[in-house]
Amino acid sequence: MADIKNQIDQIKNEIKNDLEKISSSKNIDQIKIKYLGKKGIVTKLMSNLKNFSTEEKRKFGPKLNQLKKEAEDQIKVIKEKLIKKETENKILKKQSFDVTLYKPQKIQGHKHPYSSFTEEIENIFISMGFYPSDGPEVESDFYNFTALNVPENHPARDMYDTFWLDKKNMLLRTHTSTIQIHAMKNKPLPIATFAIGKAYRHEAVDASHDIMFMQCEGMLIDKNITLSHLFAVAKTFLQKMFDKKDLDIRTRPGFFPFVEPGVEIDMRCPFCKNGCSVCKKTTWIEVFPGGLIHPNVLRSGGIDPEKYSGFAFGFGLTRLAMLKYGINDIRHFYNGKLKFLKQF
Ligand SMILES: [Zn+2]
Repeated sequence: MADIKNQIDQIKNEIKNDLEKISSSKNIDQIKIKYLGKKGIVTKLMSNLKNFSTEEKRKFGPKLNQLKKEAEDQIKVIKEKLIKKETENKILKKQSFDVTLYKPQKIQGHKHPYSSFTEEIENIFISMGFYPSDGPEVESDFYNFTALNVPENHPARDMYDTFWLDKKNMLLRTHTSTIQIHAMKNKPLPIATFAIGKAYRHEAVDASHDIMFMQCEGMLIDKNITLSHLFAVAKTFLQKMFDKKDLDIRTRPGFFPFVEPGVEIDMRCPFCKNGCSVCKKTTWIEVFPGGLIHPNVLRSGGIDPEKYSGFAFGFGLTRLAMLKYGINDIRHFYNGKLKFLKQF
C-alpha cells in the first residue's frame, strides 16, 4: 500500500520536474501523452487499481483521481502560460522590426531647375529695387516691333524668325521687350521693373537653339539715367548670380534697334582664370546686351524723351541657366528626363 503512495508522490515530482524544464508549447503535448495518454504513467496506474482490494480502491482511488486532475490542470496552466509568452514575444519581435529598413526609396518631387533659377533671378532684381512685370505671349506687331523702333520693312525684322499667327498683325512675341512698352504705358514714373517670360522664334532646334526660350528683361526710367547705371546694375546682378564679389565686366558697342547707344556687356569667365571651353578660351562671356532706351521707344510708351531717359537690357535666361549649371543642351529643360531633373 505504501508502494502506491510512493508511486503517486514520485509521479507528482516527475510531472513537476518535466513541466519546469519545458520551454515551448509545442512540447507540452508530449508531457500530456507521457502521463495522461492511453499508455501514460498515470493512466496505467489507474488501470492497475482494478487489481487492488476494495479497501485499497477506496483509499487510493480518490488520490489517483486527484493526481490525474492535478496533472491535467498543471499541464493546462503551463500550456496557456507558454502560449501567452510566445505570443508576446512574437509581438515584441514585430515591434522591434525596423519598418524603414526595407522601405522603397521615396520619390519626392522638387522644383524644375527653370523655376528655381527664375526665383533666384527675381530675388536678385527685387533686392535691387526692381519690381516684376508681365505681358501677353501673343502680341501685336506694334508691341513686338513698331513700338520698339522696328517699323514695317525695317531690316532688323529679319533678325527675328517670327511665328506669325493667322490673325492679321498678330504673332508670338519674339522677345520679352514687348513688356517694356506695356510697363511704360501702364506704370507711373519712375519705372524700375524686370520681366521673365517665354519668347518664340521659328528656328531649327539644336543643342543651343529652341523654338521657345526664356528671356529676362529689365529697365529703369527716370531723370538723368545713364549707361553707368546700366553697368552698375549688370555688374551687381552678375556678381550675385555667380556668387563672385570680384566678378568683372567689360562693355562693347552693340546694335539693337530699341536702344541708342547699344552695348554688349561681357563678364569675366567665372569658371576659369586662363580660358576654358565655356568662354571658348577668351576668359570673357557675352551675357548682357542692353543700352539706353531709344527716344522713339520712349515716345511709343508715352514718355517724353526730353525729360526722361532710361536703360534697358534683355538676356537669355535659358542661356544663363545653361552657363551657371554647365548644361550643354537646351533641350534638356523640356524633355522631362528624370536623370537630368534629379540633378537639381
Ligand atoms: Zn573660362
